Formats: sequence, structure tokens, C-alpha cells
Amino acid sequence: MKDFIKVLRRFLPPYKGDTTMMFVYNLLGAIFGVFSLGAIVPVLDTFFNKSVEVSVLEKMPWELKTDVVMHNFNYYITLIKTEYGPEYTLFFIAVVALTMVLFKVLFTFLGSYHSVNIRNGVVRDLRLQIYNKMISLPLPFFSAEKKGDIIARSTGDVQEVEISVMSSIDMIFKNPIMILVYLIGLLSISAQLTLFVFIMLPIAGYIIGLTGKKLKKSSRDGQNKMGDILSTIEESLSGLRIIKAFNAEEKMHIRFSEESNSYRRIMNSMMRRYVLAHPVSEFMGTLVMLTIMCYGGMLILNGTGNLTGSTFIAYLGMFYMIIAPAKAFSKAAYTIQKGLAAMDRIDQLLEAKSTITDKENAKSVSEFGNSIHYKNVTFSYNGERNVLKNVNLEIPKGKTVALVGQSGSGKTTFVDLLPRFYDVNEGSINVDGIDIRDYKMKDLRNLMGNVNQESILFNDTIFNNIAFGVESATMEDVVAAAKIANAHDFISATENGYNTNIGDRGSKLSGGQRQRLSIARAVLKNPPIMILDEATSALDTESERLVQDALDKLMENRTSLVIAHRLSTVKNADLICVFHEGEIVERGKHDELIEKGGAYKKLYDMQLL
Ligand code: ADP
Repeated sequence: MKDFIKVLRRFLPPYKGDTTMMFVYNLLGAIFGVFSLGAIVPVLDTFFNKSVEVSVLEKMPWELKTDVVMHNFNYYITLIKTEYGPEYTLFFIAVVALTMVLFKVLFTFLGSYHSVNIRNGVVRDLRLQIYNKMISLPLPFFSAEKKGDIIARSTGDVQEVEISVMSSIDMIFKNPIMILVYLIGLLSISAQLTLFVFIMLPIAGYIIGLTGKKLKKSSRDGQNKMGDILSTIEESLSGLRIIKAFNAEEKMHIRFSEESNSYRRIMNSMMRRYVLAHPVSEFMGTLVMLTIMCYGGMLILNGTGNLTGSTFIAYLGMFYMIIAPAKAFSKAAYTIQKGLAAMDRIDQLLEAKSTITDKENAKSVSEFGNSIHYKNVTFSYNGERNVLKNVNLEIPKGKTVALVGQSGSGKTTFVDLLPRFYDVNEGSINVDGIDIRDYKMKDLRNLMGNVNQESILFNDTIFNNIAFGVESATMEDVVAAAKIANAHDFISATENGYNTNIGDRGSKLSGGQRQRLSIARAVLKNPPIMILDEATSALDTESERLVQDALDKLMENRTSLVIAHRLSTVKNADLICVFHEGEIVERGKHDELIEKGGAYKKLYDMQLL
């Protein structure tokens, strides 16, 4: 319960207006509900012809009290009856009751009208928070946490919270009001009988509640399992090529069915508890109802209290109206447990600490002055194996440094440290003599442009993909960048030119075209430092020439760090660093290294072959 109130405190404040309106409308709805039932008492009396002899009552001075209101209502009824006869009275009361019900449903509707806005608003807020967190978290978080699991948290779990928020809003702002108002109605009809009900209800509630225990834990287990399932689906979809090539369908099938079966077991046990709630509460409800009928019947027969046949029927009607919200109470208790479990999982994501953040007095920087300096840099992804070992490298402004070496030797890791995708474990990286951890991260990253092996493009127009990192880019800017990147011609040839949508991850374009778009994007951003991971994917000679030409133009007058796969880049580089198992084992210009006949010569000969 405490957890649950905490959750409401977190999410309801922006919806104060809606909450207040909902409260007021529900209160009015419940009050009209009571009066609509109260109105049937005179109907019954007329019907049973009991009060034909009753003379006109004395009118009481108006007061906002149930018995005063009821008394005066009866006063008017008797007045009408003596004046116009019982048939007309019957019709009159029916119209009054109908009007009451009309108001009741109208106000109940208005209450729900506002609760819908709260419900959808809270869910939107939560989804936004998750998304913002997701894109603000540093890369290391995602290598540890699985993608599918994050997707599960931001879809399935949010849905659970949605359902539980909905029922909890009812539970707090609707049901208690209804129960309270109806209880007042019941008390005003017969205090004795209501006292009896007060003793019965908690006992019934306790028995119903017993079945709901343990629900939270199995619900969380279920959601965790769902995360695994989504992870497997995600992996399988992106690795379909490999699965087929290795004939691993059977293996993946077995893995997936194991996960699905275990999910089924957890959900079976949970849902069985869940569906148990209904029969238990129905049985208990009937039991309570019958007990009241017996007790009330006895009160009438014995003539104790002021209960009559017709007030008793109104009483039962009112009591019946309490059952629905009371039942909803017990059901909400279940749903809220499930929702809280989902909220826990979402919070694990929301509370994940960003390990890579700005320092308090981080410095601004808008220009790159003279050098990048890697000093004794050691780095490990998992704290066990060092992927980079005590690496030193100084890159003066305006130079091109090519990184070569076997795959897995640490080149990508080396360049990823510069924009602080990861932070070094030991040593430091300085830009213009200042540790990059002392700069504002946004400024630091603004100094750099990235072109990756796998062009990362978004499902959007060509224009928006090129203008991605630059605010308020004009069409002229974008076209100029595309021309430099040798992309203008193929873009013009597409159906809608720069407004053509390139599909999911640029799937409507060829590899070379995707590369040139990401080069154009870097050209437009125009940063002083370029980080390039050259494409190794087989491009045909024509597009390789276009891409290479675009890259050469991109590197002109910039400081570039290039993970090089092409001999041409390597030959022209100011410095070549040969990586081997996390160390730079050789460095120098192309001719020097060839002459030396060491590791570089070996790599070079291998490539020539
Ligand atoms: P290269 O770019 O030279 O091919 P990488 O820098 O990508 O080499 O990788 C260096 C080493 O770090 C490899 O052994 C690789 O397995 C490991 N590695 C790379 N990325 C991660 C990661 N996100 N988590 C854990 N280990 C990683």
C-alpha cells in the first residue's frame, strides 16, 4: 500500500485538475445514486397501497440531512397523492427516479471522462521517461543489459502499469466515495442492520484477500521471463542469416520453446490465482447478501427498529450497489500488485545510474586547438581482460592517423574512448592539454564527426538523415554537403529527391549509397575532428571509388582518426599505428614501416595477396 501511494504521488501531480474534477463528479454521481434508490420507497408504498390512509405530513424546514430530505420528499408525495390519486403519483415518482438516475449516470460519465485523461497521461509520461532514460544512458549499460529486456520493460511493463493505474484511480477516487455515500444511505435507513453489515464485510474481505498473496512475485517472474523471450526474438531476427547458415533452427527452436514453456508455467500459476478471485468474491458476496436478508427479514418480522418491507427493499438495492465497488476493491488489490511488480522493473531502468556524466564545473569548448593526446590509456569492458594496455599516442591538429591491425586488436575501442562512449580505466585522454572528462560532454562530442562501417541511418527522409545533427540546416546546406559526399546525383535520381524516405535503417539504399549519406551527414556537421571506420563491406569498384573520394574530401583540413582497411588511406596517412592485442606495436609512415619489415609489412603483404 505504501509503495502504491508513492507511485501515485510520483505520477498524479500533473493531473491535479482532472483528479479534483473526477472526485467531485464521482461524489455527485454517488449522491444521485442514493436518491434514485430512495425514490423507489414511496413507489413501493404506493404499489402495496400501504399509505393510502396516510394524511399529509408536516413539512420540515429544509436542511441538508438525509432524513429531512426524505421526509420532505414524502411530504410532497402524500400531497400529490391526496390531490391526484395513486396512479398519477406512481408515474410522478418514476419520472423523479429516472431523472435522478440520469444525473447519476451523467456525473459518473463525467468522472470517467477525467479519469481517462489521467490514465493515458500517466502512461505517456512514463513512456517518455523511459525513452529519455534509454537514450541518455551510456553505451556500457547496453552491453550489460539485453535489448529485448529493455523493450519488454518499455512495452509490457508499461501496459501493466497502465491497467493498474486505471484500477487504482477507481480504487482511490471512485469506489471509496461510492461506498461511503451508500453506507450513509444505509445507515439512515437502518443503523442496526448496517452495524451488522460492518461486522460481516471485513471478514468477507479478508477471505477474498487471502487468495491474492504471492501475486506480486509471480507477476515479476512472469515479466522477467517475457524479457528473455523478447531478447531471443530480437537476437533471432537480427541473426537469422547466421541461424540459417549454421542450420541452427532446431537449436534456436529448443531454446525458445524452453523459455516459452517456463513463461507458461509461471503465468498458469499466476492466472489461476487471479481467476480464483472471481468465484471467491461472488460466493462471499452472495453469502453476505443472504445473511443480510435473513437478519433484515427477522428485524421486520419482529418489528424491532423502524424497518419496513419497502425500505428494506431499498436497503437491499443500495447494498447491492455497494457490492460492485467493494468487489472492484478486491480486484484492484490484485491488479495493483501486478502493476507494482511492473513498476519495480521499470524503476530498475529509470534508476540506472549514468556512469558517464559531466563533472560539476565542466568546461565549455567550442574549438579544437592543437592536439589530442592519449596518455597511458588502459581500458577493460568487464574489469577482467584489458582490451587496451597502457597506450600512448599524440595526434597533432590537421593530421591523419590510420589505425590498422587484426580484428579484435582494440582499434574500435580506442576511437570510442575519444567521444566518451566509454571512459578510460587508467590514464587519460587530453584534448588541448585538458582531460576530456573535464569538458562538457555535449561540447566535446560537437568537436567530432563519426562515419561508421555500418552506416547508421534512420527511417526518415534523405534530407532529415543528412541534417540529423545540425539544427536549422537549409536545403542549400544539405545539397552542398551531399555534393561533397558524391551523393547528390543518386539522391536526385530517387523518386522524391531529398524528401524520399529511405526505409528502416536505410534499407531502400545500396551499401555505398548509405555510406555516402552518412558521409554527407558528417560533412554538414563540419567538425574539426573526424573519426572514421572505413567500410569493409564489399562495395563494387565504382561505388568504392565514389565513397573513397568522398572520404578524402571529408578528411581534408581536419584531424582524422581512421580505422583503415584500404591501402590508399594508409599510404596517405601522416602516421600509421599497428594495433596488436591492445597495444600499438609499430608506428610510422607507410614507407618507413615497409622498410622496417615488421608487423605492418606482414599485414600489408597479406592484403596484397
Ligand atoms: P577491433 O576494432 O580492432 O576489431 P575492438 O576494439 O572492437 O577491436 O575489440 C577489442 C576487444 O574488445 C575484442 O576482444 C572484443 O571482443 C572486445 N569488445 C569489444 N566490444 C566489447 C563490448 N561492448 N563488451 C565487451 N567486450 C568488447
